[in-house]
Amino acid sequence: MARSPARELSVKSIESLSPHMKRVVLTGESLSDFPPDQASAYIKLVFDNPATPEKPLRRSYTVVSSDQHTQQLTIDFAVHPNTRDQGPAARWLEDASIGDPISVSGPGPTKLVDLDADWFVLTGDLTALPAIRANIEILPSHAKGYVILEIPHQDDQQSLALEASSIPEGMEIIWVINPHPGQQKELLKEALANLPRLPGNPYLWAASELNAVLEIRNWANGQSLTPRSSRYISSYWQLGLPDEAHKVQKRERLAEK
Ligand SMILES: Cc1cc2nc3c(=O)[nH]c(=O)nc-3n(C[C@H](O)[C@H](O)[C@H](O)COP(=O)(O)OP(=O)(O)OC[C@H]3O[C@@H](n4cnc5c(N)ncnc54)[C@H](O)[C@@H]3O)c2cc1C
Repeated sequence: MARSPARELSVKSIESLSPHMKRVVLTGESLSDFPPDQASAYIKLVFDNPATPEKPLRRSYTVVSSDQHTQQLTIDFAVHPNTRDQGPAARWLEDASIGDPISVSGPGPTKLVDLDADWFVLTGDLTALPAIRANIEILPSHAKGYVILEIPHQDDQQSLALEASSIPEGMEIIWVINPHPGQQKELLKEALANLPRLPGNPYLWAASELNAVLEIRNWANGQSLTPRSSRYISSYWQLGLPDEAHKVQKRERLAEK
């Protein structure tokens, strides 16, 4: 993402969508030129870095919705169950209240499936749920395939927050419960591997913790499930590492030459 000047926003509302998902609506005049139709794109939240003030800390979050006219930007935050090891975004969320300021840069490109595919596999954990939801919303009503979502608790199912009618009938939703996100890296891959393949060429969309995503990528390669042009596979975080270190690992271990 080209580094555009950050927009200075503030918290308009905070709502719990489920035990591990919070929706934050940001507002500010500088959203009046935020581009439209950015659901699934990411923005960066910018935090002060006391250790190196000239290098602020940036964390990526997915645009749930934005509106230039009402000057609102909505983001859904996964609440990390492990509260001992919080980064700047999780700490900000924990203390956030209405009126709090926050700097936001972006957006980067949208992360949408290719609608020409014959069927679709969308998979990820709570951090990917906002982008997966945006993808479900663009699928045609006759779309077929699977949505496999890893959530910390079954009560988090409500955070999919979709009208049943807007999920195409042919898209089966499979929930995988993992109370310890980032551990049991094989869970999503195993759920995927157990599904019957449908006729034709699928589009694979996957985002989660780095090690879980590597499992999926390696399995998909072994199965020749999709060519690289028919997939989006990305890690959104890494267990035990702050995002700066995760990005280095992502480049070294996930990038396909
Ligand atoms: C393109 C993109 C879009 C994203 N969209 C969203 C989104 O819409 N909503 C969302 O919630 N996240 C999203 N993420 C993930 C989010 O950027 C990371 O979870 C980020 O690391 C959180 O920053 P932090 O400051 O809380 O933790 P960091 O400082 O990065 O890490 C501190 C500690 O927290 C742990 N940690 C980080 N994330 C999680 C997690 N999700 N669960 C458990 N432990 C964690 C790390 O392993 C580390 O030990 C997205 C990431 C990308 C790349």
